[in-house]
Amino acid sequence: MKENKDLKILVTGGSGLVGKHLKDILPNATYLSSKDADLTRINEVYGLIVKYKPDVVVHLAARVGGILDNVKHPVNYLEENIMMNANVLKACHDCGVEKVIAILSTCIFPDVVDSYPMKESQLFDGPPTPSNFSYGLAKRCMAAHIDSYVSQYNKAWSYLIPCNLYGEYDKYTEHNSHFVSALIKKIHDSVDNKITLWGDGTPMRQFMYGGDLARVIKTMIEKNIIGNFNVAPEGVLTIDGIAQIAKSALGKNDLKIEYDLTKPNGQYRKDVDSSKLLEALNGFEFTPLHEGIEKTYNKIKGKDPLFRVVEHE
Ligand code: NAP
Repeated sequence: MKENKDLKILVTGGSGLVGKHLKDILPNATYLSSKDADLTRINEVYGLIVKYKPDVVVHLAARVGGILDNVKHPVNYLEENIMMNANVLKACHDCGVEKVIAILSTCIFPDVVDSYPMKESQLFDGPPTPSNFSYGLAKRCMAAHIDSYVSQYNKAWSYLIPCNLYGEYDKYTEHNSHFVSALIKKIHDSVDNKITLWGDGTPMRQFMYGGDLARVIKTMIEKNIIGNFNVAPEGVLTIDGIAQIAKSALGKNDLKIEYDLTKPNGQYRKDVDSSKLLEALNGFEFTPLHEGIEKTYNKIKGKDPLFRVVEHE
């Protein structure tokens, strides 16, 4: 492998939440969006790899969305993700790309397992939760695909399995943002000092600041760390616990949180164990949730007109 400064790094999905965080700390890579190539088309993917001749491909691109969109468009989540992932891996193999780091998601773990937090080895221990079954299976195929390349061709390829993310680069639309980002917006927009959340507030979640995942990817490249790792801060919080932290981070301690019990709770828990990653990265620290929400809010607040307008797009 070349020295870090000479590495040619190509990032798919470079215009997304994770891609923008990565660009902030790893500017000397090539960041692609769907405008550069449609990764569901194999010829366009070969075109990219032949053009850039990367030593490392960070594969972030995916069709990503909230529960409602997943339930409404299961075919798109299955087909687009399977095609993108298979095309990228096949082109990387055929063109001799030395290192691939691909991103899965803890949403793809089994809906229910016997013991939590889940380890990487439990990925195939049961079906994914019904609300993102297609997305889950498509991403699991990429895990199996990478494992197969490692087994058959001894590739130095890896995948990361991050928990849900938030950060200033998330989409702040009602139907597209992830829970913490949507929560920040709800609290910011509340007019009668009250917000309503879906379900009863008891499901348990892990959330990570998007910049932390970017730091993990950068460290793996720079220290030449190879392997498959869960990526999530230690511990797990209830939805209500997260909402209380968000209230405090936005300086709205007196805000009332109500729960709409007619709406579903979603998966009860899906927390993962990141001890394998922490051992490999030695000394890595995640951003505490309160600090990450505060940081995110301060960045978005400064762009208040944009923050508000996006909801109506
Ligand atoms: P995102 O903000 O939705 O961005 C998706 C990226 O994929 C965009 O750059 C988009 O390009 C690109 N893309 C989508 N379809 C494409 C296609 N057909 N051809 C080429 N590019 C295409 O996603 P993200 O939140 O950054 O997620 C990055 C990765 O992390 C994904 O693999 C996701 O599954 C995983 N992940 C995300 C979370 C989370 O909470 N966000 C949690 C766990 C794992 P355009 O901008 O041009 O559309």
